[in-house]
Parts: sequence; C-alpha cells; structure tokens
Amino acid sequence: MTSSRRLATALKLLMAMVLIMGLTACATVPGTGRSQLSLVSDSELNTMAATQYSQMVKQGPLSKNKKDTAMIKSVGSKISKAAESFLTEHGRAAEISTYSWEFNLIESSDVNAFCMPGGKVAFYTGILPYTQGEEGVATIMGHEVAHAIAHHSRERASQQLMTSLGASALSIGLGVGGASQFTGDMAMAAYGLGSEVGILLPFSRAHESEADRIGLSLMAMAGYNPAAAVAFWQRMSEASGGSKGSDFLSTHPSDAKRIANIEKFLPEAEARYKK
Ligand SMILES: [Zn+2]
Repeated sequence: MTSSRRLATALKLLMAMVLIMGLTACATVPGTGRSQLSLVSDSELNTMAATQYSQMVKQGPLSKNKKDTAMIKSVGSKISKAAESFLTEHGRAAEISTYSWEFNLIESSDVNAFCMPGGKVAFYTGILPYTQGEEGVATIMGHEVAHAIAHHSRERASQQLMTSLGASALSIGLGVGGASQFTGDMAMAAYGLGSEVGILLPFSRAHESEADRIGLSLMAMAGYNPAAAVAFWQRMSEASGGSKGSDFLSTHPSDAKRIANIEKFLPEAEARYKK
C-alpha cells in the first residue's frame, strides 16, 4: 500500500469507529447532568472488577474486629440503599440490578478505601483512626460509592481506549507497523482495562469533586449529617502533614479547594437530610 492509500484506509477506519461509537458513546452522570464518554460496557468492567475484588478479599486478611467490620457493612448497606434511591430519583432505576454490593474490612496499615465498578467496596483498617466513627466512614463510603454510580472508571477507561484507537489509526496512516500494530494496540487497550491500574488508578480532580458532591447527598439520604464531611476532611487536612505515603491522601488531596467545594454543595445535601 502507498502511504496515501494507507492514510485513506486509516481515516475510513477511524470514521467508521467514530460513527459506530457515536451511537452509544455518551452517558449522563446522575445528579450533576454532566455528559461523559462511554465506550466500555458496564458488564465487562463489572466482571473484571468482581474477579479482582474476590482475589483481594481472599488474600485479605479480613479484619478480625467484629465491631468495626459490622460498622463498615452497616454503613455500606445504608449508603448503597441511598444510592439506589438516588438512581431511581434520576430515572436510572434500571441500572440498580447491575450492582452487586459487597463491603469488606481488610486488615492493613494502608490508609485507603475504594469502591470498584459494580459496587465492590473495601476499607483498610489503616483508615479507621481518621474516620473516628460512623460519620467519617459514611463520608468516605458516600464518596467512593458516588465514583461507582457516576461511572468514573468507565469514563476513564473510555478515554484511554479513545486515545489508544487514535494512536493506532495514526500509526497505520504513517505506515508504522501496519495492520498488525493496530490489532496489537487494541489488545493492549483491552488488557489495560483489565489490569489493576485500570480499575484502581487515582481519579482526576473533576471526578473527585463530582464524587464529593454526590457523596454528600448519599450520606444525607442515608441519615448522616452531611456537615460531618467538612469536619472529616478538615481532620484529614491536619493529618496530611504527618502521613506522607498514605494512598488515600495522595489520591484525595485534602486541601482548602476540596473543603470549599464541599461547603459549596452542603446546602443541596442538607435539604435532603432535613427531609
Ligand atoms: Zn475519590
């Protein structure tokens, strides 16, 4: 193939992909109305997350502290029920069945917590000194569950896939590697989505802010005073000086900007709490 024919083929291929994807490429975040790229199927992502999560839980070790474990599961249950009401309220009741909620407390000095796509939640015991009880746990639980119902992992995976497809089409156009390179990159992209980094990478500041906003509402709907979130993040902010190396703090910078953003969305959540 001449280079101009290669380029034409690549462009046709890229246009076909954009057309196909354009039909299903966009989704809307419940509660904020932001539109987001959606090129990866939930079932695919949820299956990968569930596999990874079950391995993680098997390795554990799970906390032997019955009281703390029960608290994590109880807060998780309340927040997930709030998330389902939130989805219903925003016309997304059909999505509820795609979540299979699970909450575990893992014994580890890591200061961390996360919710994988599909509702698989883990808290590490290392974060408990910071949460200082149920309201702090509800703040993090609300935030992490919000990442899941706002499909932030799917959006990030879709952005990665788009970048990778663009690069592949360009490499065919330039004649670098040809068609075999294209399929190779596609496979790499698919593999990347399944690897641990694909699911547990830190989120962008925009995603963090959106998860804070939705999380406040979830916590209020679950019966927790959302104002407790401000106190929690202030505590984290004070602690951040002395706890370098904390995974949670490195991916969740607790600075003035975050606290101001939370205060801005507090009235919206407080209106739900009073109801
Ligand atoms: Zn987050």
